[in-house]
Amino acid sequence: MITSHIRPDGDGLGSGLALYWMLRSLGKDATVLLRDRVPPAYTVLPGSDMVVVAQDVSEDYEAAFIIECSDVMRPGLPSLKDQFVVNIDHHSTTTAFGNVNWIDPTAAAVGEMIYNLCKALGAQVTKEIAECIYTALLTDTGSFHFSNTTERTLKIASELVRLGVEPARISQALFYSYPFSRIKLLGLVLSTIERDETGRLAWVTMDRETMYESDASEEDSDGIVNHALSVGEVDAVAFFKELSPGVYRVSLRSKGKNNVAKVAEMFGGGGHRNAAGCRIEGDFEDVKRRVIEGLQSAIGVAPVSA
Ligand code: 5GP
Ligand code: MN
Repeated sequence: MITSHIRPDGDGLGSGLALYWMLRSLGKDATVLLRDRVPPAYTVLPGSDMVVVAQDVSEDYEAAFIIECSDVMRPGLPSLKDQFVVNIDHHSTTTAFGNVNWIDPTAAAVGEMIYNLCKALGAQVTKEIAECIYTALLTDTGSFHFSNTTERTLKIASELVRLGVEPARISQALFYSYPFSRIKLLGLVLSTIERDETGRLAWVTMDRETMYESDASEEDSDGIVNHALSVGEVDAVAFFKELSPGVYRVSLRSKGKNNVAKVAEMFGGGGHRNAAGCRIEGDFEDVKRRVIEGLQSAIGVAPVSA
């Protein structure tokens, strides 16, 4: 079986499904099992209709491949820990929680690793596999914008296009097929933007009322944080989402060498240098102050004096 984290993203789904197609082509039985459903945009991925959504693992598998997870609990499937676990990830913060651990922080996405695995095993990179891996690369590199985009990433992407991927078709499905509610929400959330006195730190906030007002789902808020980072002098941003009263999901993004994974880890979360997240409970003003102070020390600006 193959799984990834809750609220699966393009790399978790794309790499998981690519591995699924590869194992099947090698004559193995495989199932992709996730805690959360496939977000509508990702139904463009071949095999997405085969994904099983469940609250736990109920069978004994020969192996459980866990894609892109910092620990064995991240998939949200409690009994996973009793399986023979193969941990495949590209996050430097991942622990070696598996029976087998393959962690490559130089890979832009786990998709890159699955591509290399296909090559190493002599498995044919079919059009299905190519589309899944391309999606993983495209989403985890921010459409080839982020610093994890390397010569190797672009070489693989080029090879995937040669094998039949149509970049415009994937981009259309991922970035030009949003529901109206998402753009309405984008407008409301962006209008909350604030910055500190240095101008190098900015943050946006989404409370429950804003979600109701725009008739949006939590998924609709994915990606908003990157707009805040598009301000020229801004080095790091935070996006505070109110999940329920007193419970916040915090998305952090940064440019260049500014490390927000360290800040997320301070609150029990994790991620990459330039994209990380965590969940914090408490009074909003207090949560905000603690995160902003963490970010100020991460980007090397003096904390705002009280
Ligand atoms: P996002 O802000 O899009 O939810 O998350 C950005 C990245 O941060 C994810 O790709 C993931 O690597 C990491 N991340 C987000 N939330 C958590 C969390 O609660 N725990 C860990 N370990 N990583 C997280
Ligand atoms: Mn990834």
